[in-house]
Order: sequence, then C-alpha cells, then structure tokens
Amino acid sequence: MKRVYLAANLMDAQIAVDVLAIQGIKTHIFNANAVGAVGELAAIQMWPEVWVDEDSDSEQARQLLQQLHATSSHGSKTCPHCGEENPENFLSCWNCNQALI
Ligand SMILES: [Zn+2]
Repeated sequence: MKRVYLAANLMDAQIAVDVLAIQGIKTHIFNANAVGAVGELAAIQMWPEVWVDEDSDSEQARQLLQQLHATSSHGSKTCPHCGEENPENFLSCWNCNQALI
C-alpha cells in the first residue's frame, strides 16, 4: 500500500476515493474517524490519508488527483435531483448525495 493523498477533510478524501474508484483503483482512507479528535495531536497528523491498495497504482492515482485539483475551478454545477449548487469537482451532491454525473 502507498499513500497518494493527504486530504484537508473527510469530504475531500471521499472525492479522491470516488475518482480513483471510477478508474478501478482500490483505496483506503486512514484517519477517517480521527478528524474530531484534533487538539491532542498536531492537526496535520489527523488529516485523512488516501492510500492505494496496490503500489503499482500509485503513479496513476497521483496523476488523477493532480488532474482533479488542476481542473477544480470556481465553477459550480446544479444538482439534477434537488437543485442545489455544488462545486464543479464534486461527484455527488453535498445535499442529497445523488450522483452529479
Ligand atoms: Zn442534490
């Protein structure tokens, strides 16, 4: 296993995992349950980490995540299910959790 991404929050980590899953890359999130415990440890140690199961997937995963962040502009898209605005790079609606694609 290799760490490919250090996310700022759990939602960010979940987006990364969703993008990689679409490409068939198996991942795990570590520290997912530790976010609420910031205070006793340095905050950066508590950030969710995305790891690929297969080391051989790590290069592709990093490239995909770079693309994801390179293309995430300030645009938004409207959820076809509930009509809420979502950031352009979201794969599922923050409000109703339906797929935005
Ligand atoms: Zn929605």
